[in-house]
Amino acid sequence: MKILVVNAGSSSLKYQLFDMDTESVIVKGGVERIGIRGSVLHHKWAQGEKVIEQDMPNHKVAMQAVLDALVHPEYGAIHSMSEIDAVGHRVLHSGGDFDGSVLLDDEVLKICKKNAELGPLHMPANILGIEACREVMPHTPMALVFDTAFHATMPPHAYMYAVDYDDYKNYKVRKYGFHGTSHKYVSQEAIKYLGRGAAGTKIITAHLGGGSSLSAVMDGKCVDTSMGFTPLAGVPMGTRSGDIDPAVLEFLAAKKGYTVLDCINYLNKQCGVAGISGISSDFRDLTKAAAEGNERAQLALDMFAYAVKKYIGSYIAAMDGLDCLVFTAGIGENTWQVREMICDKMDCFGIALDAEKNRLKNDGAIHDITGEGSKVKVLVIPTNEELVIARETKELVEA
Ligand code: ADP
Repeated sequence: MKILVVNAGSSSLKYQLFDMDTESVIVKGGVERIGIRGSVLHHKWAQGEKVIEQDMPNHKVAMQAVLDALVHPEYGAIHSMSEIDAVGHRVLHSGGDFDGSVLLDDEVLKICKKNAELGPLHMPANILGIEACREVMPHTPMALVFDTAFHATMPPHAYMYAVDYDDYKNYKVRKYGFHGTSHKYVSQEAIKYLGRGAAGTKIITAHLGGGSSLSAVMDGKCVDTSMGFTPLAGVPMGTRSGDIDPAVLEFLAAKKGYTVLDCINYLNKQCGVAGISGISSDFRDLTKAAAEGNERAQLALDMFAYAVKKYIGSYIAAMDGLDCLVFTAGIGENTWQVREMICDKMDCFGIALDAEKNRLKNDGAIHDITGEGSKVKVLVIPTNEELVIARETKELVEA
């Protein structure tokens, strides 16, 4: 069975074609600058990379260009579109209407459109991608896999905000959580690694990347997560503030003449470690600058590690213990300095790192970086969100 995984952004469209018999990627790539001058498709096939520059004014044209690349006699991977058995779409928000992945039909699409307001940065683009795909492949079954779905198992005391209950009821104001496919994948891999089945396991997954979130996972199910109503909440991120006193908004609005939207844009795009360091949102730049003595880069790293540490502590309290701490995503998999800072002085929780193993380069495999005498297993597990999407799509289509 061949499954195409599609992840549509506002001006981008990433794809991977999976052979599900071996769970391997046949080809992958992405379109950038959809609707902007200079649209380009990078298509990576077994023998190399093909760069296709072509005008792509909308997602439908981009999707058609992807399909043309997939069936191309020279650099394609299949002879005809009919070889694609199903398409799996990454979708940000289920709006609480779906607690798992779902096969696409008109009703499902209608619900997604209704929920677009819950994710204004991502949902309209996700929907454009789905519609474009439906137009060019009208007979291929499609599944939607939501970033929020893994968190649907959170109990109300974890997902509720202490706002007027009517606002929760009427407007769905609550915590949803994101990066669900990643938290799901790495927690399942951790359970396999621990080798004793999901029951009774207590795991914290730290997805640390451009956006970062942590989840508390008990018995294989999410019981709490650090992102909230939107992906702005939680630990500080590349350019996002993470948790902040909401009264800062009114204060900033008065000082800087911001509207509410300006404030949210500011918190999404001008804050985080980039705002603190004044250097970069990229942890490779920050660790280099800090090592060279840049104090603000060091402060940004300190703040990030401190916030992650505090979430770990709070999730140990929430689960009454911890068996395994998992690091994943760009920073979690690669930036050993940050893992070291996070796990430093965590003896009271029984967390210790092996300094040498922690510095081993990411080679795409699972690394056990647990230190001697540590009661908690500490693992680096490369995430694979696309594979989760492909697996869930296969399961739905076969059912
Ligand atoms: P996104 O949320 O954009 O998918 P990623 O999970 O790819 O983010 O993480 C990207 C971040 O990981 C970069 O901003 C950078 O700070 C950090 N990073 C550190 N080392 C590496 C590396 N070797 N490769 C990629 N990202 C790295």
